[in-house]
Amino acid sequence: MANLINGKEIAAQVKAEVAKDAEKLAEKFGATPGLAVVIVGDDPASKIYVRNKKKACEEVGFYSEEIALPEKTSQKELLNLIDTLNKRVDIDGILVQLPLPKHLNEKTIIGAISPKKDVDAFSPFNVGRVMIGEYRFSPCTPAGVMELIKSTGVEIAGKNCVVIGRSNIVGKPMAMMLLHESGTVTVCHSKTQNLQEITSKADILVSAVGKANFVTADMVKEGAVVIDVGMNHDEEGNLCGDVKFDEVEPKAGYITPVPGGVGPMTIAMLMKNTLTAAMINASVVNRAAKVNKKSNAGTENKK
Ligand code: NAP
Repeated sequence: MANLINGKEIAAQVKAEVAKDAEKLAEKFGATPGLAVVIVGDDPASKIYVRNKKKACEEVGFYSEEIALPEKTSQKELLNLIDTLNKRVDIDGILVQLPLPKHLNEKTIIGAISPKKDVDAFSPFNVGRVMIGEYRFSPCTPAGVMELIKSTGVEIAGKNCVVIGRSNIVGKPMAMMLLHESGTVTVCHSKTQNLQEITSKADILVSAVGKANFVTADMVKEGAVVIDVGMNHDEEGNLCGDVKFDEVEPKAGYITPVPGGVGPMTIAMLMKNTLTAAMINASVVNRAAKVNKKSNAGTENKK
C-alpha cells in the first residue's frame, strides 16, 4: 500500500508560512501583498479557479482584486488593463486566467505582463529563467509538485524521472525543475512510442495528460513516487486525475490523490510567488524613498 501524499495539508503549511512572512512584511514596510486576477468571459471552471485564488488570498492576508471582463473584450482593452496593473504600486502580482476567448492572443497578453508581476511565471522572460535555473517565480504547478516529492523524503538526484505531458505550463517546466535537482528526466507525449516501457522504469512518475484512468498499474514501477497532475471528470462527473488510483495505489510507494493532491499546491505556490513579488517591490519602493529623501536633503543643503 502506498503512502498518501496529502497535498491539502502541505499546502496549508506553505500558506501558513506565507501568512507569517506577509505579517513581517507589513511590520517592516507597511506593505500588503496585492494580487490582481483577470478573468475574461464566463467559463465555469475558470470562475471556480478564480474564486479559489481569491479565497487563498484572504487566508494569507493579501489584498486581491478580481477583474471580470465580458467575453467580447478586445485585445486592446485587455492590454490597456494590463498596462494599468503593471503601473499600480498596490498590485504586486498579475494573473490572467487561461484559457482566454479565442479572439484574444494568449501569448501577446501574457507577454504584456511585467516580468516582475508575472506570478504565474508564464511570460517568456520568466520561462527562460526557469530554463537556466535562476528564477524568482517558480511555475506554480511544477513547483507544487516539487514540494510534494520533497515531502516524501525521496531523493531526486540520480533518479529516473518520467514526465508524461509536454505543455508549456506543466510538462516542460516540470521536466526542467526535476533536471535542476539532478534527476535523469524523460519527457513523454502523444507521439511517444513504448510509453509503458518508459514509465514502468520511473522512480518518480509525474502525469500531466488530462485523461482519466490513463496511468494503469502496468505503467508503474513497484515503490515509485506517483504524482497525478491531471484534473478530469469521470463518467459520474466527479473530479479525478490521470491515474487509475485503485490499481496503482497498491503498487506505488507514494501517491497523490485527486482531489487533495497537486491542486491545492498550485494555489499555495501562487501565494508564495505573490509574496516574493511584494517583498521585492517593497524593498525597491523603500530604497527609492530613501534615495529620494537623500537627494532632497542634498538639494535642501544646497539651498
Ligand atoms: P495539455 O496542454 O493538454 O497537455 C497534455 C499533454 O499530454 C500533451 O503534451 C500531450 O502530448 C500529452 N498526451 C496526450 N495524450 C497522450 C498520450 N496518449 N500519451 C502520452 N502523452 C499524451 O494539458 P496541461 O495544461 O499540461 O494539463 C494537463 C492536465 O493537468 C489537465 O488535466 C489539466 O487540467 C491538469 N492541470 C492541473 C493543474 C493543477 O493545479 N492540479 C494545473 C494545470 C493543469 P502532445 O504534446 O503530443 O499533444
